[in-house]
Amino acid sequence: MSRELNNWQELLDSFTETGVRRGKVSRIHQIRNNNAERIKLLLEDEELRVVLLKWMNHQVKRQRSLEAAKCFRETGNRQFSLKDYKASIEMYSQSILSCPVENEVELSLALANRSAALFQLDLFEDCLQDINMALTKNYPSHLMPKILMRKIKSLRKLGLMEDCRTTLQELEAAFMHLQVSEKNKIQSDIKVILMDDQGNEYTQDRDVEFDERIIPFCGENLFFKAASAALDIRHSIEKGRYVMANRDIMAGETLFVEQPNALVVLPDFQTTRCHHCTREKPLKRCPCLSCGQVWFCSNACRQESSCYHTVECGLESVLNSVGIAHLGARIVVSYGLDTVLAFLKDTGNEKKIPGIDNSYDTKSYQVMFHLVSHTERMAPDELYQYALTAAFLTLLLEEHTKFFQLASQEDRYLVGGLILVHICQMVSNAHAITEICALDENSERQERIATAIYPSASLMNHSCDPTVINSFQGNTLIVRAIRDVRKGDEVFNCYGPHYRRMRRTERIEMLESQYSFVCTCEHCRDTNTEDFQDVIYSFACPSCNGSLVNPSGSHPSAQNQMTLCRSCKTQQSYFTQLKADFEAVSLDARGTEAMNQGDIMEAIKLLTKCVQLRKRALFKGHPDLGKSADKLAQCYAFIGKYEECEKMLRISLTAVEQRYGRYSIEMANELQKFTDVLMELASSRNQDLRDELVRHLEEAMFIYRIHYGPWSSSYKELQSKKVHLTSLLMK
Ligand SMILES: [Zn+2]
Ligand SMILES: [Zn+2]
Ligand SMILES: [Zn+2]
Ligand SMILES: [Zn+2]
Repeated sequence: MSRELNNWQELLDSFTETGVRRGKVSRIHQIRNNNAERIKLLLEDEELRVVLLKWMNHQVKRQRSLEAAKCFRETGNRQFSLKDYKASIEMYSQSILSCPVENEVELSLALANRSAALFQLDLFEDCLQDINMALTKNYPSHLMPKILMRKIKSLRKLGLMEDCRTTLQELEAAFMHLQVSEKNKIQSDIKVILMDDQGNEYTQDRDVEFDERIIPFCGENLFFKAASAALDIRHSIEKGRYVMANRDIMAGETLFVEQPNALVVLPDFQTTRCHHCTREKPLKRCPCLSCGQVWFCSNACRQESSCYHTVECGLESVLNSVGIAHLGARIVVSYGLDTVLAFLKDTGNEKKIPGIDNSYDTKSYQVMFHLVSHTERMAPDELYQYALTAAFLTLLLEEHTKFFQLASQEDRYLVGGLILVHICQMVSNAHAITEICALDENSERQERIATAIYPSASLMNHSCDPTVINSFQGNTLIVRAIRDVRKGDEVFNCYGPHYRRMRRTERIEMLESQYSFVCTCEHCRDTNTEDFQDVIYSFACPSCNGSLVNPSGSHPSAQNQMTLCRSCKTQQSYFTQLKADFEAVSLDARGTEAMNQGDIMEAIKLLTKCVQLRKRALFKGHPDLGKSADKLAQCYAFIGKYEECEKMLRISLTAVEQRYGRYSIEMANELQKFTDVLMELASSRNQDLRDELVRHLEEAMFIYRIHYGPWSSSYKELQSKKVHLTSLLMK
């Protein structure tokens, strides 16, 4: 391999190219149901092994520099002197992260400086943690008295008097190096500390993150962990395992509350998020002191992560390079060699299906092993690439960790085979952990923070018209029903393609290529009914306001420009509507232009004509009608004509509901806008309007609650709006 390959995917592609030519890709594919054999075949290829090792060693090399660490620390010092403690903590944290591990003195200086900033912010526990870490890292002895003084002050604040006395003794020992004047200064400082008796009152703030602990609607299911007692696991030959409602479920009910079995933070968030739990705690970043590549938000997370991080420590960049496959290796590593080998060697385990033959416990390795992987259904080159990645990770564990220390060569291949299974599972089972991030004061966006496995929620099959919606509270997945489900009905998730957002042909293609199945949901199966997208983008029927079938080549009526109404089944002129819409397009463009120029009166004139035309010509769910009405509403709001504004928003509200559905997030955003306008009118108009306002507020709150959770800013904003409204109406 002569040319320089920049990333793992390029390397895989180049391997696959040669692999196809030499028949290796098909050989790997033809080994049926024996993943260990696949790994063995790859790793016994000496030539391949050499290239993999070369790539690995290139990746493992650390990219840290003492200069960068110093530079960050000095910036931090400047901010500290300006009393911008939070900013200085950020810089000291960066310094710790970029410091070469062998450079202990520099590392200890950054830790000590950070402890000073934490002290200023009254974060005494974290301050102590940094001091103790600095003291294990060759902290310069001439600086010792200063840091020990800070330690004593923190211990006193926390009421840890016993530790305080021990540290005083250490401080006395550190005096040896000082000159007389300095000694005197410190001794008088100590007197002051000891006289200051306010120390014991301090209690460190505990993190209260969420005021509400969510539990499944009708209690937790003991047999099906993390699921509501309203759900059962069922099994059939064609479908495999699936989730069924064992009683009627109402929209909004919580169906799953699940902790991830394993998660990997995406590279973009690794410098700001806890490596173990994804929390963002800018002031509480404790690095792994062995590798300095990852952060933990607490000692609890550091301890919990030790089952995998002791193995992965120092390999973060090489593990990042294989993307989602990292999570596949993580599963094997966290359960440990003994557990996975014992599992494999007990032949009964492989045959028993969790959830059917025994209870479904999201923490058990058996459950992880049995997640759907479709390994044997994959295309040869796809399987080859996954197998190569698994072989690479096996080699990495062999070369750079003690994971395989006591394992035989055969056992290593067996474990490599398991890594392959878990990598293949990622395609169908990996879940993106998302968080709502504010874009600006009016809008929020979901951002992908990490990839995780939720074994219970994973049992739901896909439908393009799902029954549930997912949201996150930290890294806890919360699944709620988005519509009513009858007892005995299957509960469906949506893996991405939704019938309201994607055409049938695109959905079928995507699901087949990515998840290896043919979707049999109502919207995919029934090819006699039209695609939802076609119905939405229809012209209106002049007789009944229904929607007209879009004439296409297959419709004979297209020739005479007549077409069928879907509702009243009469023939209508397609051409008349086409002409009207054509005119409306130009009016909309001119109206928008006037709006942008600030000529609101002209914009109102043009857009009013446009909306009138579109109301006649377009189906009420047509996005163009909604958009024009929304623009006109903006113009009216601008000049304070709220009654006109309200009329226009009703049109766009209908369009949004038709297109995205009653419980969509788009609907909630539209309702929020609408309630703003109704608020303006509420004091001047009748009781009906006020009732409607309250109803819409509640609807929007309901949608935000099921999509984003009651802790989201959108939900809270509406909540306070409702409080404000109630007090207004009481007057
Ligand atoms: Zn954490
Ligand atoms: Zn580490
Ligand atoms: Zn479908
Ligand atoms: Zn009609």
